[in-house]
Amino acid sequence: MNKLILIFALTFLPLPSLMAQIIPKVYTKGAMKDMGTAYDLKVWLDSLPDKSNLFAMGPYDKMKGEITVFDGKPFFATAFVKDKAVVSQNWDIRSPFLVYSNVKDWEEFNLNGPINSTQEIEEKVAALAKDKGYDLKEPFAFRIAGEFAQITAHIVTPRSPKIEGYKPDVKSQKFFLENNKGELLGFYSENHQGIFTGSKSFVHIHFLKEDQTFMGHLDEISTGNQTLKLYLPRKQPVVRTAVQVNDTDFSKGRLGNIQYIDLNDLVKFHGHLCDGLVVGHLALQSALNELYPDGLVDRTNTRIVSKPSPCLTDAAIYTTGGRYQFNTFYVSDNMDGLFTVQRIDTREAIAVKMKKGVKPQEIDQLGSLAVKGELSACDLDKLKGMEDNFTEMLLSADPKDNFTLSELPDFKWNPVLKNDYIKTDILNKNISKCQ
Ligand SMILES: [Zn+2]
Ligand SMILES: [Zn+2]
Repeated sequence: MNKLILIFALTFLPLPSLMAQIIPKVYTKGAMKDMGTAYDLKVWLDSLPDKSNLFAMGPYDKMKGEITVFDGKPFFATAFVKDKAVVSQNWDIRSPFLVYSNVKDWEEFNLNGPINSTQEIEEKVAALAKDKGYDLKEPFAFRIAGEFAQITAHIVTPRSPKIEGYKPDVKSQKFFLENNKGELLGFYSENHQGIFTGSKSFVHIHFLKEDQTFMGHLDEISTGNQTLKLYLPRKQPVVRTAVQVNDTDFSKGRLGNIQYIDLNDLVKFHGHLCDGLVVGHLALQSALNELYPDGLVDRTNTRIVSKPSPCLTDAAIYTTGGRYQFNTFYVSDNMDGLFTVQRIDTREAIAVKMKKGVKPQEIDQLGSLAVKGELSACDLDKLKGMEDNFTEMLLSADPKDNFTLSELPDFKWNPVLKNDYIKTDILNKNISKCQ
């Protein structure tokens, strides 16, 4: 889920709407320039948090070969014997550096030949991306598919006699392929030289043959007059998750201390990222946007009633500034919806609900078993996976699609003190790991 948190950090206010469009982020682990002669392994691919629609590349193990992940399939290639590439698939592989990105959707373009170098690929990709409004200061993945007239590619080989496949004075095996169908995966960046691109290049490109009998690092290319398909990552919607709040500026101070609160802040306060917290955060953003149309939430002027869930109550008090002891927060199980939020000055009150069917029923079914202590260690992990997917869905959708707001002209503030709700998110704290 760390990936999600990073996505939030990329989004900015002010808030014209809760949605933004971003190019799928490119991540790196380790760096080419730091490999030295030891080739310490910096990433275990199996540990990457999200393998869906994953695209990645790097060396395989201690220069035993090449890794290319194509759309969630982890290929690695070795060439311990001259002219003999061996391509396999496994997540249980490691790399001294890796560049990767999860790309769900690609936009297709025609790429006309002839192209006679990786440099030309770099130029054409940059020109198209710029034309499409990409910020070339941010790295991105690209793919080129079709039939390639000539490709020269290499697979690196081990540099130390201690590593399987070592041959003295051989650092890689070169392969020459003619009229091969397949696909190039590339990463473009103007700011990662020595990290995942060479010192004179803005691209790192690998080739996978269509029949998957060859995969390697692209050195030279000549496409003839073939028209190829070039794919760029489609921008993905993300929810802007920050709330702009106004508070007093010291213990006896005046109103005017303006800050942003984002989901990361809320996660620290609450203890973890969970679906309920995201539900609360998005629901409150929607309601507060309605109460404060200029986007600045006065936390000295807001009170709230929350459903008792540990996630919702934390989102409620953190975001609105409502507190029990000042009669600006209480909990009720007796309301239709997640929260009722009220402006104290105008008495305007808004109830916010999650639409029916938005949350997968199985999450609630497994959740109630977990509360009863009836869920096995492995089923708890399964539930977490389902909640994470639900969270991801919420964060990539327009909150309008998932939440409804209603004005409550007759709302009565009716605080009750009740402190025997069960804190359900700590009941399984001592359960063992799934074996
Ligand atoms: Zn490479
Ligand atoms: Zn929680």
